Amino acid sequence: MHIEPAGRNAPVRYTLRAGDHRLDLNARLGKTLRLTHTGAIACTHCGRATRKSFGQGYCYPCFKRLAQCDTCIVKPETCHFDQGTCREPEWGESHCFQPHVVYLANSSGLKVGITRRTQLPTRWLDQGAIQALPILEVDTRQQSGFVEMLFKEQVADRTNWRAMLKGEVEPVDLCAERDRLLASLDNGLRGLRERFGADSLRVLDVEPVTLDYPVLESPTKVVSHNLDKTPAVGGTLMGLKGQYLMFDTGVINLRKYTGYEVTVE
Ligand SMILES: [Zn+2]
Repeated sequence: MHIEPAGRNAPVRYTLRAGDHRLDLNARLGKTLRLTHTGAIACTHCGRATRKSFGQGYCYPCFKRLAQCDTCIVKPETCHFDQGTCREPEWGESHCFQPHVVYLANSSGLKVGITRRTQLPTRWLDQGAIQALPILEVDTRQQSGFVEMLFKEQVADRTNWRAMLKGEVEPVDLCAERDRLLASLDNGLRGLRERFGADSLRVLDVEPVTLDYPVLESPTKVVSHNLDKTPAVGGTLMGLKGQYLMFDTGVINLRKYTGYEVTVE
């Protein structure tokens, strides 16, 4: 599923991609949509058929071999590149040793997150954030992990996806939160600058972003569909938010089923 911003005051655009086919999901709002899993799963990296998907879309050998499936991607502060044990040093250099952004977002309340600069705003759209504000830029993924650890002392780093889907999310003054957090974490940030260099952590001065999702009606009770247990799911499409399709019959996180062969009608 491809998610992209659609410019000012327009809701985020969702496109379902299957082979050469493109389905404009925004246009299906209020209409019936049915997804049926054929039983086939293909690894998104090597294309090999796999009975089970590992790490949201990989076959087991790729899951064990690829650097992007290593635990240090989720916990960047545990980067082990300098010990010479990176699974794929070249991939590490081109992905982890690149500028990363530490941001504040509001998906189900205030949260902190990190991402490669080139992954914005995709990362926010994936999380269903309604507001986002980049606050710091650093040189490597590991450094962004250390900064995130510091912020986690004061703010969440996870999205409560049920609250996100229900739309019970109050707006947050992200600029005020940024100023408050930068002031209260000043000691810790100074420590990181001493460790990585005075220019390593750069405070960003940019405007917050507001994101609007195509939702006719948010669910009051969140029931989730599972393609592994029920291969055919669907109903009237009521909304699109984060990686979720919201039907009148329940919600489905399509990210979980990356690599699943699905027929759409
Ligand atoms: Zn594979």
